Amino acid sequence: SEENITLLINTASSGTIGELEDDTISYFIKKKLRVWCTQPRGQWELGTILSSSGEEASVLLSNGKVMKVARSELLPANPDILEGVDDLIKLSYLNEPSVLHNLKFRYSKEMIYSKAGAILIALNPFKDLQIYENDYVSGYRQKFSDSHHVYTLTDAAYNDMIRDELNQSIIISGESGSGKTETAKIVIQYLAALGGGSCGIENEILQTNCILEAFGNAKTSRNENSSRFGKLIEIYFSSMGKICRAKVQTFLLEKSRVVQLGSSERSYHIFYQLCAGASSGLKERLNLRSVSDYKYLNQSDCMTICNVDDAKKFQHLMKALDTVRICEEDQELIFKILAAILWLGNISFQVIDSENHIEVVDDEAVTSAALLMGCNSRELMAALSTHKTQSGDATVVKRLTLQQAIDARDATAKFIYSSLFEWLVEQLNNSLEVDKKCTGKSISILDIYGFESLKKNNFEQFCKNYANERLQQHFIRHLFKLEQEDYESDGIDWTKIDFEDNQECLDLFEKKPLGLLSLLDQESSLPKASDLTFANKLKQHLDANPCFKGERGRAFSVRHYTVEVLYDTNGFLEKNRDTLPSDSLQLLSSCNCGLLQFFSKRSSESQSQSNFLRTVALDSQKQGVGTNFKGQLFKLIHQLESTKPHFVHCIRPNNKQLPGIYDEDLVLQQLRCCGVLEAARISRVGYPTRMTHQEFSRRYGFLLSEDYVSQDPLSISVSVLQQFHIPLEMYQVGYTKLYLRAQQIGALEDKRKQV
Ligand code: ATP
Ligand code: MG
Repeated sequence: SEENITLLINTASSGTIGELEDDTISYFIKKKLRVWCTQPRGQWELGTILSSSGEEASVLLSNGKVMKVARSELLPANPDILEGVDDLIKLSYLNEPSVLHNLKFRYSKEMIYSKAGAILIALNPFKDLQIYENDYVSGYRQKFSDSHHVYTLTDAAYNDMIRDELNQSIIISGESGSGKTETAKIVIQYLAALGGGSCGIENEILQTNCILEAFGNAKTSRNENSSRFGKLIEIYFSSMGKICRAKVQTFLLEKSRVVQLGSSERSYHIFYQLCAGASSGLKERLNLRSVSDYKYLNQSDCMTICNVDDAKKFQHLMKALDTVRICEEDQELIFKILAAILWLGNISFQVIDSENHIEVVDDEAVTSAALLMGCNSRELMAALSTHKTQSGDATVVKRLTLQQAIDARDATAKFIYSSLFEWLVEQLNNSLEVDKKCTGKSISILDIYGFESLKKNNFEQFCKNYANERLQQHFIRHLFKLEQEDYESDGIDWTKIDFEDNQECLDLFEKKPLGLLSLLDQESSLPKASDLTFANKLKQHLDANPCFKGERGRAFSVRHYTVEVLYDTNGFLEKNRDTLPSDSLQLLSSCNCGLLQFFSKRSSESQSQSNFLRTVALDSQKQGVGTNFKGQLFKLIHQLESTKPHFVHCIRPNNKQLPGIYDEDLVLQQLRCCGVLEAARISRVGYPTRMTHQEFSRRYGFLLSEDYVSQDPLSISVSVLQQFHIPLEMYQVGYTKLYLRAQQIGALEDKRKQV
């Protein structure tokens, strides 16, 4: 019956029972083989088929009930011996319930890592599993353990880098709270253990994380330590395999969080850490109060995180800043700027006339902010309450309305914070560039925000989801397109797999002049435009696009890679323009604070501010935030394309952030979003290992008993395969390369080691 099972396995891999032959059904009945039966709630239940006639079958469920079910609703389940296999491609039936069940089984046994062909799947355990200690590092390095782990994947990337002298990348994806940042840290920890040298740079890299998290992470409703920026860390190794330098790139920090918070969310950790952990001396110098005294922080109902000691974190942060050699004066400057931002948020306005014009309330907030920023409080009040324009020789001063003043204040706070973040990243990079001369190969680790579909989706989700589409294409390209092209161009037979490409959706975003990003820039350049006119413009130009749907009012939907997301254009234009009022910019340039001056100077250099007045739109050549981000992404993808990628897909098993809970619907939705199943299917039919005949003959030719020097690489390869009895169905010989099924290369490597 083993034989029969294998036979069956080969006949069906993912279809429903309804698609199977009648005698296969009879076989299921006779052998009482299990099937998955769709339940009314959309979930699946295990059962065995009792009888079948026509399109219907009668099924005995595991709970003892008998149900009549359409054959098309039945999916074959895997035999017991395959319970909990470590690689989904080993499953006989690769259907959704089988994959879900397999991952669930493993999760219940605390086996959080599995493979789906080339992808490593990581389920967030939401508890400390003690599988990352030093003995694990050495265990994986010495290959005592071959169970799947981030360490195995990292080890492979490191070995590939050394062996092939090729840059590698580890691309970590997944939804918010799925464990991307933790996984990235685990990768770095392993690389630090492997490539640590005497210069201590590995410690600096680890400390860099601590700093970036303080300034770029925040508590959200989904994750208490949610990264609100994307990051790529490149770690360079010397020819001896030791870390010699590193570089951090960050993407699109969520600035709005500095001034605006959703319920049960917090602003960036650093604000709370500073308030809780500053010494009394520092507190005095910054005129620092407690969190609840600052409007930017107390607007939310959440000011602390359970089991997190912000004061202690602040001590860690100070140590980390020391480690990356940010001097004490600079540290003091950073804290001053943070305190200034908090005080800015407390500045309030008083309406003075019937047209809603305001003046600034002259209170402690103004004096404190001005003192910390190094300017005169009169100047600060003027910058936040009036707008100066030059008309010939005369300066015209206009008073602002309440909304304009609030916007100016918040824009200033956001600008200062994001500039500080950028500057900090530069400082980190200066410190990580220990050995500038090192031109060795690198491993890049990408930890970028996952796909988001909330109840209400804004400009932030729009950008993140666009980034995910781009990365998704990189992923699909790598796994599917290149694979097929490779086989075909090398004259290899293989079963073609259909897959969904997301080019159509990318076009919707990127096409010029009629794509979402271009239209957004065009609308942003019109002074009279509003979010509503923008929504209407989209509907007018994009309605024919199958990935686009105009919705009521200001809304529109995009059919993303697998799910449809509804966006509200509220705030799109303003966030895309992201202008800082010229008055604020001028103020900053006059501040007696080196950093603020530097921020304003750089900003004026990067954009000609003269055309850039308050409430005035982008000038026609100016790129908005969205288009800028697109440029950054293109650069990123280009960079990744020159590396060998390794993919990790993180999954959040429940919304409660608790261990031991496996929410099937939630997991399924994530599996669908990322194309893991298709990828597994491809890897199974495909030949995951391939080497050119030159490479192969160089590596294994010497194992041949006969003289092989006179032969050409292709003949040598074939001789090796024959001498070691590699079964015919386990490989194919292409024009330029040899294609091997999974696990074949391991046997040859063993032989090689024995010599
Ligand atoms: P976001 O997109 O919001 O930044 P993320 O995918 O980076 O989310 P993480 O911050 O890495 O998610 O993980 C969320 C939380 O899950 C962590 O704070 C930690 O408590 C837990 N967690 C994640 N991975 C692991 C792991 N391997 N072991 C133990 N706990 C983990
Ligand atoms: Mg994160």
